[in-house]
Amino acid sequence: MKRTLNIETISKIGEEVLLKGWVHSIRAHGKIIFIDLRDLTGITQIVFTPKMEEEYYNLVKEIKPEYIVEILGEVLERPDNMKNSEIPTGSIEIKAKSLKILSCAKTMPFPIDTNGYDIGEKTRLEYRYVDLRRERLKRNLKKRFETISLMRQILKEKGFIEIETPILTKSTPEGAREFVVPSRNFKGNFYALAQSPQQYKQLLISAGIEKYFQIARCFRDEDPRGDRQPEFTQLDLEMAFPEGKEEIMNLMEDIYIKVIKEIFPEKHITQIPFPKMTYKEAMEKYGGDKPDMRKDKNDPNELAFWFITDFPMFEWKEEYKRWGAVHHPFTLPQEENPENFKEGLENILAHQFDLVLNGFEIAGGSLRTHDIELLKTCFMVMGHDEKELEEKFKHYFDAFSYGIPPHGGIASGLDRFFAVALNEESIREVIAFPKTGDSKDLMMKSPSKITNEQLKELGLKVEENE
Ligand code: ASP
Repeated sequence: MKRTLNIETISKIGEEVLLKGWVHSIRAHGKIIFIDLRDLTGITQIVFTPKMEEEYYNLVKEIKPEYIVEILGEVLERPDNMKNSEIPTGSIEIKAKSLKILSCAKTMPFPIDTNGYDIGEKTRLEYRYVDLRRERLKRNLKKRFETISLMRQILKEKGFIEIETPILTKSTPEGAREFVVPSRNFKGNFYALAQSPQQYKQLLISAGIEKYFQIARCFRDEDPRGDRQPEFTQLDLEMAFPEGKEEIMNLMEDIYIKVIKEIFPEKHITQIPFPKMTYKEAMEKYGGDKPDMRKDKNDPNELAFWFITDFPMFEWKEEYKRWGAVHHPFTLPQEENPENFKEGLENILAHQFDLVLNGFEIAGGSLRTHDIELLKTCFMVMGHDEKELEEKFKHYFDAFSYGIPPHGGIASGLDRFFAVALNEESIREVIAFPKTGDSKDLMMKSPSKITNEQLKELGLKVEENE
């Protein structure tokens, strides 16, 4: 017999159905035993009475929460006074005829029928596969999927194509610290995990892919700080010949307006079109470049999207005692005559724009420098010499020397967007298998040591800490 899903039972009154799923809860009322059976479509109530075959009635007494079972039974309409309007299948129940246990389950390490906020996060992450049975987390993952599907559809309609770019790439001074991966075939050499598809997407533009996007995984080995993840997901895009930065900002705005309307209809956006504010104004008026512009901060459904523009191009990096790029080195400075750089790097602005949502930066983009000399100057003032550029960015300068159109792009950090849109405080609540604030995977117990054989094969020696 073919399986019936819980939600399908409501149209099968009087029929015999075979249900499969998880035992959500068990209640005994005298001799009558009720099981709430859970599957991907929701919950259905099953009734077991002593009138059924003894074998099965005895078996049902052995069942514990989260056992996975198969139940054959008849769909009955519940009497009016027994109907439950809280669940979609509340107008029916299943009179069980037989029962089969498909998988037993140990007692869960914590309750899964609550929102889970009061359970220690370490335990939740250690048993993430149990934690994910929670309705709230399933809803978050579903919304995430629906949003990403819609984003893909919108961009496809606008003529963008999604292209996967390498994750194993080369270590280059693009901005963030990278994770490196030792090469077995070329001992002593390393790949770096892509901190973003930035260089590849610009090379795609040089190849004539005028409209690129990717739901991209990015990896950054940054110092652990609370709510960051060493790997995260961006909606990354790039286009040739943009009509100024406005075209890119408008595109992002259009995507988010459609997403909110369709996937988060309960939300309202503070102001459309998304207002713009310069970096200077944000710093002077609000003391930061990510102002929370909600009109009513107690309103859980308000979304204040704001663009911040005209960031400084360079900032002094005390740690390295040199200048660095505020966004990244490929950003187009507003001052395009390198001669004028001498006037003071701190005064040069960039064609950079961030999108801020309720006080969080959810996207950052820029027009890019496509003039090779200007690009070299930018790198030089940040302390990189010709030799280093040749070693690290030869591919990039070479590609540009074969012709590169004016271009620009933006990337939006989706984890943070989902956290805000789903009213979650932590991005860990919107990621299936997140790492802790200090980048550990508590479930897989990673990072972990590797064997001496593996080290040898890779040509590596580990210095043990004293
Ligand atoms: N690659 C940049 C980032 O990850 C975004 C961009 O400029 O498109 O922040």
